[in-house]
Amino acid sequence: MRKLDRSRLLQQRAEGFLPGGVDSPVRAFRAVGGDPPFLARAEGAYLWDADGNRYIDYFGSWGPMILGHAFPPVVEAIQQAAGRSPSFGASTASEADLAELIRAAVPSMEKLRFVSSGTEATMSAIRLARAFTNRKYIVKFEGCYHGHADGLLVKAGSGVATFGIPGSAGVPEEIAHFTLALPYNDIAAVEAAFAARPQEIAAIILEPVAGNMGCVPPEPGYLAALRELTTREGAVLIFDEVMTGFRVAHGGAQQLYGITPDLICLGKIIGGGLPCGAFGGRAEIMNLLAPLGPVYQAGTLSGNPLAMAAGVATLEYLARNREAVYSNLEEASRLVAQGVATVFSEAGVPVTTNRVGAMWTWFFTNERVVDFATAATSDTTRFGAFHRAMLDAGVWLPPSQFEAIFLGTAHTAAVIEATLTAARQAVASLHEAQPAR
Ligand SMILES: *Cc1c(COP(=O)(O)O)cnc(C)c1O
Repeated sequence: MRKLDRSRLLQQRAEGFLPGGVDSPVRAFRAVGGDPPFLARAEGAYLWDADGNRYIDYFGSWGPMILGHAFPPVVEAIQQAAGRSPSFGASTASEADLAELIRAAVPSMEKLRFVSSGTEATMSAIRLARAFTNRKYIVKFEGCYHGHADGLLVKAGSGVATFGIPGSAGVPEEIAHFTLALPYNDIAAVEAAFAARPQEIAAIILEPVAGNMGCVPPEPGYLAALRELTTREGAVLIFDEVMTGFRVAHGGAQQLYGITPDLICLGKIIGGGLPCGAFGGRAEIMNLLAPLGPVYQAGTLSGNPLAMAAGVATLEYLARNREAVYSNLEEASRLVAQGVATVFSEAGVPVTTNRVGAMWTWFFTNERVVDFATAATSDTTRFGAFHRAMLDAGVWLPPSQFEAIFLGTAHTAAVIEATLTAARQAVASLHEAQPAR
């Protein structure tokens, strides 16, 4: 059994200052039970907690750490930028450097603007879409998460799904009213929404591969149908690729599925582990932003030099090693996702594995998982027990059934083998621990 004495003390101390002891809800581990380990350092595919326990990392800081932790070129780039001063609040060359790397991979981002989080990116993209169309309503999908802006928390994924919150308290009805939440992968529902509110829907925003209700890929033809409908109805199609960008393919889900959205939101990987997001797309829409146009959007730390440096180092590495990186990620992810699924089936545990490249989820259900309703059929009690058993066996999975699992380039064959050994141990211990289930 792991010792967590030091983590427990740190958690108690933090609870005196921070609600729940955390700055983001799922970090408190409420959905899986057990004490949240406090992390002290990380390198490559490994995390060490405050008590000295080591874990193989399968959440990658929720996505950004695709090159592994403390990747030397990224650390050096941050150190050099820090030596020149962490912030100026004026333009630096690094903003166009990072923008150029992004546009080379995601050509639909004709113009873009940097912000400091994915939340700011989606919030700003929606403001722009409303200004461009002069319409008020937006369509989002149940189980998709687009950050914590008021209008986007309606039937949201991630922590909102984890804690079973239907929509956040503190969001006025009048604001939630303009958000139409529809089931994912259901094109008829979108058709009906446009029919009910002709000329009133400004935008559709979605995760082109959902990751925040666990991993749920788009059904064949779904993204193409959304593209066609939005074009026909004069609405803006927004791909929230904060999670999928530079992960499911170098050019994100839009490259993988061959669909060009009007606006795109990025975050996570593009900041190399520092706070960074971006929104961009058609120049015609982006040019509505101040100072060129009437849509206001700003940020004291937007385009921050440390974040830009970490992003440039990360995206340069990905661009130079594109073929090798993405084929290795695919292979490594397949081995872990299938390998552990086999351990479950051999133990007679029903599991549905959804995976797109280096992002996946094991759902404890027999159903095909295509939307939030089917994701919610998963046995979350079993997930919690599995999560705790994996931590004890030295593997750190995201602490909720409704979060995608990630790996990165530091997950070598030896790391994968160790993961499968841990999974066998964890599944065996589950059977001993709960014979009655
Ligand atoms: C993480 C995430 C966000 C929010 O990004 P933050 O940087 O946490 O604000 C938005 N959309 C998607 C798809 C995400 O995965």
